[in-house]
Amino acid sequence: MNDHEKIRELLALSVADALTRAEEEQVMNHARSCAECSSELDSWRLLAAGMRRLPTPQPRPLIVERARARAEIRFAEEVENRWHRIVMVGVILFAWALTLMSWPVVRLVSGGLLGMLDPRLNHAWLGFAVFTTVIWMTGGAAAVFLSLQQRRERRLA
Ligand SMILES: [Zn+2]
Repeated sequence: MNDHEKIRELLALSVADALTRAEEEQVMNHARSCAECSSELDSWRLLAAGMRRLPTPQPRPLIVERARARAEIRFAEEVENRWHRIVMVGVILFAWALTLMSWPVVRLVSGGLLGMLDPRLNHAWLGFAVFTTVIWMTGGAAAVFLSLQQRRERRLA
């Protein structure tokens, strides 16, 4: 077996990084002076690069698993957002019901207190407006509190 044939057998191993440093040096030295081995080495390198580019089968289930987990998170977020909307609408309806139900009370209070100072109707309306604002702010705070609590519960679950 001459040097050329011996080196030819090492070309594929060289590309696969399976040679000792001495063998590697031998291959490189020979390839510099031998066109045939040099071109075969290039072919092996191309093949190796192509194989590295091919999708390896192992990461696939991981990617699928990751995509599935991401989809589950998206779904949970969607459910949570819907829940937030329901809570918000409920709180607003509750605030309005409370405001309307308490209107006679507001009128009584404004008629009793403000009425003594100034019997004009706009005072009653002002009292109503202030009361409504307070109710809405309470409703908003309740909505924020509920959504935060719901998120905390979901994180613990
Ligand atoms: Zn050669």
